[in-house]
Amino acid sequence: MNADRVLADLRELANLTGGPDGARRVCWTDEWVKARDFLRTRLDELPVEVSVDEAGNLWAAMEGAGEGFVIVGSHTDSVPAGGWLDGALGVFTALEALRSQAESGRPPVGVRLVDWADEEGARFGRSLFGSSACAGTLDPDEVRDLRDKDGERLEDVLARYDVDVDRAGESGSRLRGARAYIEGHIEQGPVLESKGEPAATVLGTFGVERHHAVFTGETAHAGATPMRMRRDTFMATSQAALAIREVGLRHEGGVCTVGRATSEPGVITAVPGRTEMLLDQRHLDPDELAAMLSEAREACEQAAADHGCEVELNHIWSIPPIPFDDRLIAFAREAVQAAGGKDTAIPSGPLHDAAEMARLIPTVMLFSSSSPPVSHTKAEDTPEADLRVLVDAYGRTVEATLASAAAGDLPPRE
Ligand SMILES: [Zn+2]
Repeated sequence: MNADRVLADLRELANLTGGPDGARRVCWTDEWVKARDFLRTRLDELPVEVSVDEAGNLWAAMEGAGEGFVIVGSHTDSVPAGGWLDGALGVFTALEALRSQAESGRPPVGVRLVDWADEEGARFGRSLFGSSACAGTLDPDEVRDLRDKDGERLEDVLARYDVDVDRAGESGSRLRGARAYIEGHIEQGPVLESKGEPAATVLGTFGVERHHAVFTGETAHAGATPMRMRRDTFMATSQAALAIREVGLRHEGGVCTVGRATSEPGVITAVPGRTEMLLDQRHLDPDELAAMLSEAREACEQAAADHGCEVELNHIWSIPPIPFDDRLIAFAREAVQAAGGKDTAIPSGPLHDAAEMARLIPTVMLFSSSSPPVSHTKAEDTPEADLRVLVDAYGRTVEATLASAAAGDLPPRE
């Protein structure tokens, strides 16, 4: 793997589709097409067949000596005013894996690069469009009427890019023969930076539970109502939120976030009679996640009782934890160490296309550090030395996976 070429491609892409305000590769826009055209010019130099599937995912297939293929890739799309590495790092590292395979002759089994369409959901609010269509978890009826900020419908906009929402699921046929999926990405958080580590293996993606809590008490005059006679929903919510923080701290590896709390009537002279709170909880272990949720529920009920209020917890959305493949995790752990990193393996808080693939085929991800540890902003960055470790480790993981496939493991998907 030649990290210089990856870095040069990433910088050229950033110049083409970014600027002082950050990356502009929002899916289903001209800038995204421009990014893909750039990727195609690089693919044109290789012995690959390039095509776009029914969900708008771009594929580049390189033949191998044996049956089936290993998939490498990520996404070129970005959020508006995004960073230069989110998604692009994984695509251009995967491209380098194709290049290095082409340079050393014919790979032992095939290698296919994929650039997933609309990972970010930046225009219509639905993330993982292309990969979930491919994995069979996208319901066309749930997305066709989504509208962008100008009121345009998803179904109409995608048609302009030759994607028929009702046929997007047919992209799943691309997985016939797939033996494994490997994705590189930036961490987008502070864990590796805080450990001083350049890269790490990813164990899987967090399960997520999202709820909307509604505390009901009694709106009353701020001057006329003595402290002990109040049914103050803001105080109940505050107590619950602090207890929920303890829940997150108690369950090692888990996170709990109260992202919003709004009180009514919301005036300085009234005790709030109604407060709504948004709660997001994540963990890699399904039992821990379930325990975190039931403890959060108890915390809400206790807080409501202590303040003479009632509480209702409404389910918004959830997804189970999606663990990656043990064999591929072992390859990645060895590869990161051989590339100069440590034997560190962490869960992913954000969701990724890899989570959709992991439902169907053996999957693993590798993270580089993020420093500063932020993403979805133009400030997103990673030290060049850490990017080099990621590229090296990714190449080694692909090599080990190809060798394993050639030896008869990781059978091709029917
Ligand atoms: Zn991403």
